[in-house]
Amino acid sequence: MLLRLRRNLSRPELDAVLALARGLGYRERFLEGAGALTQIEGGGELLRLDGRGAPDHVARFEDLSGVAAILDAGDARERHQRAPGQQDTVVTVGEAQFGGGQLALIAGPCAVEDLERVLTIARGVRERGATVLRGGAYKPRTSPYSFQGSRERGLDMLAHAKAETGLSIVTEVLDPRDIPVVSEVADILQVGSRNMSNQALLTELGRTRRPVLLKRGFAATLREFLLAAEYILAGGNTQVILCERGIRGFDPSTRNVFDVGAVAVLKRQTHLPVIVDPSHSAGRPDIVRALARAGVVAGADGVMCDVNPWPAEAHCDGHQAISFEEFAAIAADTRTLARLDGRSVRQATQPTETAS
Ligand code: PEP
Ligand code: MN
Repeated sequence: MLLRLRRNLSRPELDAVLALARGLGYRERFLEGAGALTQIEGGGELLRLDGRGAPDHVARFEDLSGVAAILDAGDARERHQRAPGQQDTVVTVGEAQFGGGQLALIAGPCAVEDLERVLTIARGVRERGATVLRGGAYKPRTSPYSFQGSRERGLDMLAHAKAETGLSIVTEVLDPRDIPVVSEVADILQVGSRNMSNQALLTELGRTRRPVLLKRGFAATLREFLLAAEYILAGGNTQVILCERGIRGFDPSTRNVFDVGAVAVLKRQTHLPVIVDPSHSAGRPDIVRALARAGVVAGADGVMCDVNPWPAEAHCDGHQAISFEEFAAIAADTRTLARLDGRSVRQATQPTETAS
């Protein structure tokens, strides 16, 4: 591990760094200057630590005021970090594969509200290339007076859609107490942007073995986003998919600022699959396709879209939902763009003809 110490750090600060290093079994070596004394006067030295690293060491050194930066975690890298040359973690759910050169398409309404409509949407998006159906049964709403979701009734609708179409299901879980009931139908448990920093929820999801779709908090740095994933990984659940869904900006032209650079950075920093949600980024249907394209080109392992042929009647986010035709265009774009860098989109297999 390689640390940069803070300039002009005090003697107690240096002693605390050395005590932690020795306590964790490292041997220390200063790489610049003449060691501790010069460094207390001039500061900013590099400290190399040799020993057996573990994923909790980086945060423990970062917490010390004498440490300016961890320049190289070495084998103390955190669980989300991509080691040099490390392959992608692949999350496979039903017919969908995220990562390892395969992309998956997730589509569906913002919220599930009506069984017939959910079934129509499920069939429609499956025919056009989706392998996972999205739809919130428990909705995180900014106002307590807004529609909060159809809850257990919504889970039943998703179960019907899954049974009929074979699509896998992703739906949000808001509260750790709901994990068991949501897990009865969800193949992937979604953590929404507003809950990215809910450590109680993340810790509980780390105890499950169900894949988790973790959405970036709308004001979260990538470090904060990755550490939220780390909570789940630290519990032993390796199946985490990250989702860039836009961060808050100042311009009302879009709902959020789609951070396409974040996708490229995440793909380098972590081995976890990364998908994009152009719908919640855009907040308007007319640019969802453009953002989806940008996300795929930046390296995303999948795209999740709000699709709803009845946007005017939706209780939630109808203003950003796209039509089946627009989703079909995004699916076609994704296949074409994935091919450019040797990747592909896993298609739903056609329902097999049963002999009558
Ligand atoms: C959603 O995907 O339904 C949702 C609520 O999105 P976000 O958490 O990104 O706002
Ligand atoms: Mn929504």
